[in-house]
Amino acid sequence: QKPLLEVVNLKKYYPIKKGIISKTVGHVKAVDGISFSVYPGETMGLVGESGCGKSTTGRSIVRLDDPTDGDVIFQNKNLANLSKNEMRKLRTDLQIIFQDPYSSLNPRKRIGDLLAEPLRAHKLAEGEEIERKVNNILEIVGLTKYHKSRYPHEFSGGQRQRIGIARALILNPKLIICDEPVSALDVSIQAQVLNLLKDLQKEFNLTYVFIAHGLGAVKYISDRITVMYLGKIVEIAPTEEIFNQPRHPYTKILLSAYPVPNPHMRNREQIVVEGDVPSPANPPKGCAFHTRCPFAQPICREKTPPLDGENHQVACHFPLT
Ligand code: SF4
Ligand code: MG
Repeated sequence: QKPLLEVVNLKKYYPIKKGIISKTVGHVKAVDGISFSVYPGETMGLVGESGCGKSTTGRSIVRLDDPTDGDVIFQNKNLANLSKNEMRKLRTDLQIIFQDPYSSLNPRKRIGDLLAEPLRAHKLAEGEEIERKVNNILEIVGLTKYHKSRYPHEFSGGQRQRIGIARALILNPKLIICDEPVSALDVSIQAQVLNLLKDLQKEFNLTYVFIAHGLGAVKYISDRITVMYLGKIVEIAPTEEIFNQPRHPYTKILLSAYPVPNPHMRNREQIVVEGDVPSPANPPKGCAFHTRCPFAQPICREKTPPLDGENHQVACHFPLT
């Protein structure tokens, strides 16, 4: 099976500027040469502590950020080589939803207009068909056509996320980047939104990249999980293997900090790792995790371990067995 999305050696560096002439004195390597593939119909979880580069990865995939280097290949097309026009067309297939849908919904517009907007912008429907599609999508995400005349502030957080999902879904996309879509929601609402995403995936054959800092939601929704640390991927494996047989010490520590989930998934976003995360502006030499790794050996301070393996990939000189 061919991947729907291939990320190849993706890098996103931000210049660090100092002084009145804004001299560039270094770079924050937010994403530092990552590669992974996502297959049609699957959910790839992308986890790591805040600042590890997962959101930047998501934004680079949909081209909200321009990568510094590397390729994003979507439906066999290298996004870097597309003209503006070609990219516009492809954008309908490639959508992103955010942690806080409120910030991406214009507060002065009614829900009906907010949902019609993408259809009009991409010239996908007109007149009564727009109306029909908007009504339909509202129903699909668990709202009703009577919500159309309301404004974003009249909705709860969970409902707003449903509107955010509807806005992405109305374009009939193939891939949706979900950037912490439930992190800001009440725990009691999180499961509902996750279940909605799962149902939609089945119904519309969607592929997800699901970004989260905690493992709870990711465990529930992902087929495979990619773990990032300081701009690099440290492990990629099927969800079950990540949880039952983690091979990277960092993954293992994330898991041990992951509280046993109760049926209501309380406290599940907590991640505690000993020591501070080093700055991505000045990552440790060799394996970037060596400053916090209980298994570090001298070679770890010198050589960066490559991401190795096939179905279960790990970047460690001494992977756990
Ligand atoms: Fe720990 Fe060394 Fe593996 Fe890095 S390479 S995770 S420091 S054992
Ligand atoms: Mg983020």
